[in-house]
Amino acid sequence: MKPTPARFAATPDYADLHRHLGGAVHPKILYGYLHDHTADVGLTPQERDWIHGLLTRFPTYESLRGYFSSRRATLAEYLELHKLVEPLQTPGAMAYFLYRIARGARVFEHASLLELRFCPYLRTDPSADDKARITHMEAVIEAVAQAARQPEFAVDIRLLLCLHSLLPDAVNQATIDLALRRRDLVRGIDIAGPEERVAERMPHFVACLRRATEAHLSATAHVAESHPRYIHSELFPYLQRIGHGVQIPLHRPDLLANLSRRRICFELCPSTYLQTGTFTDLRPVREAIRRLDDADVPYCFATDNPAFNGRYLQAEYELALEYDLINFQGLARCQWNAFAYAF
Ligand SMILES: [Zn+2]
Repeated sequence: MKPTPARFAATPDYADLHRHLGGAVHPKILYGYLHDHTADVGLTPQERDWIHGLLTRFPTYESLRGYFSSRRATLAEYLELHKLVEPLQTPGAMAYFLYRIARGARVFEHASLLELRFCPYLRTDPSADDKARITHMEAVIEAVAQAARQPEFAVDIRLLLCLHSLLPDAVNQATIDLALRRRDLVRGIDIAGPEERVAERMPHFVACLRRATEAHLSATAHVAESHPRYIHSELFPYLQRIGHGVQIPLHRPDLLANLSRRRICFELCPSTYLQTGTFTDLRPVREAIRRLDDADVPYCFATDNPAFNGRYLQAEYELALEYDLINFQGLARCQWNAFAYAF
């Protein structure tokens, strides 16, 4: 008798562990928001000015979409895109955006688990002083957490707070304080921002991560994304996952045994490496994955900033299959890892 062929689950189920709130809102949704809210009296004058400025700059949907999705020369240039969106992501706007993020994750991505990361400080009122902004961060995470509850779509949205390489020490320390105080809302922390600034401030970031580790708060960090000089093995003892890390297997394969032993899961976002000019094609990513497999280091695929990359989670997996980064067995393993290593 012929055995029944193995098959994938009839209802596919995915998790995305690396997505920034700033890069999560599809350009179509963002454009709709700008139009719906031009005359919203509930918004602050700064928000209305920002909306007006964006609509002047991008009078059509095509112009906004085209600007977002064009490839950048460097990672630093790519990260500037967040600055267009962050001023709009105020506590009052969270319900609008999170509803649509959850809907898209369910309808188009078959995702039941989504980790969203963001910097609360960058969503506070920029006209307030530092002290007031730090105080206001808690209201920001409460608003995001409240808006993230969208039971009709059955997507478990978990929140990670980002420390940022361009923010002062006091802000990052306050972000850790907040994450530790609001364990009911925060699942973990991340280190984000331009990589050269992370490298220059390593003692600060190690101290932040140490505090998280001592309190058993999970941590990931953007490491070794755009250049091998940003491989920081001193962070490994404090991390459960690594954001990108794609330069590690390519340039420091000697570190992989340690990462395998620690079961640190890599969050790989192939589209980002093309959009940021890190690689001109996916061949280095294929080689990086081959080395991760050889060393038995776990990894999964993630979207990072799907609104900027023009690809959501399914498209990211399709891309990985199309360019032989993985085969279908690898796909199933990545799917499993994304749930197993979630915070
Ligand atoms: Zn990222």
